[in-house]
Amino acid sequence: MPELPEVETVRRQLDPVLTGVRIADVHARRPDLRTAFPPRFRHRLRRQTVQAVTRRAKYLLAELSSGETLMMHLGMSGSFRIELPGESRQALGLHDHVVFDLASGARVVFNDPRRFGFMDLLTPAEREQHVVLSRLGPEPLADGFDGAALARACRGKKTSIKVALLDQRVVAGIGNIYASEALHVAGLSPRRRAEIVATPKGVPRESAHRLAAAIKKVLNAAITRAAGAPYRGSRFRVYDREGERCRRVRCEGVIERRTQAGRSTFYCPICQR
Ligand SMILES: [Zn+2]
Repeated sequence: MPELPEVETVRRQLDPVLTGVRIADVHARRPDLRTAFPPRFRHRLRRQTVQAVTRRAKYLLAELSSGETLMMHLGMSGSFRIELPGESRQALGLHDHVVFDLASGARVVFNDPRRFGFMDLLTPAEREQHVVLSRLGPEPLADGFDGAALARACRGKKTSIKVALLDQRVVAGIGNIYASEALHVAGLSPRRRAEIVATPKGVPRESAHRLAAAIKKVLNAAITRAAGAPYRGSRFRVYDREGERCRRVRCEGVIERRTQAGRSTFYCPICQR
């Protein structure tokens, strides 16, 4: 399943192709993905100019000249194929569900074999009040996300720091893999209470700054990799490495796995305190 780094990589690929470009036409080649396409999908997208392609958590947001937002999610298996102007058109396949023909001559095709992805169109009011978007915490890669923001969100939280990192209200879209990875980089045990990164008044402790920096580091490294290498288990420090040696220099720990809130957490019991 695409995690935040993969979604951000997709955003960076779509942005130069879509932003500032008019959608000449769009075809949904079936009535639904995970959910039905919104009413008048084609009509509301045709002749709109994309003003920006942004992202919140794992949602891609194409902001349209009409003021509406095209909200897209890759689900388990969604991807976009970009065919640049002048490139020959690939024949559309069984799982090519949405085709955007752009005034630039480029074509963007959404492919999703398992159809857990979705597309929706939101009016400004709908976006403002959206049941998911309106409740998301800070973007981990935004400048505004730092130790202070993390400390504010974790203040007084008795849940474990690992479970807190998966809470979309604390920080948006980190996901199970990168929560484990960031805690290892920060040298923090996933079992500690979230509140330990803040004083009772919500002032960040040193661990909050360390963890916020670690989150940015693992996500940025994954984005760099996602742009190049294919998905491989061995790229991780702890995730999916139960029983293997810790990769921290001079640490002799062996990675353990534990279930927290129904999800696997991987960590080193020696260097994560
Ligand atoms: Zn270790």
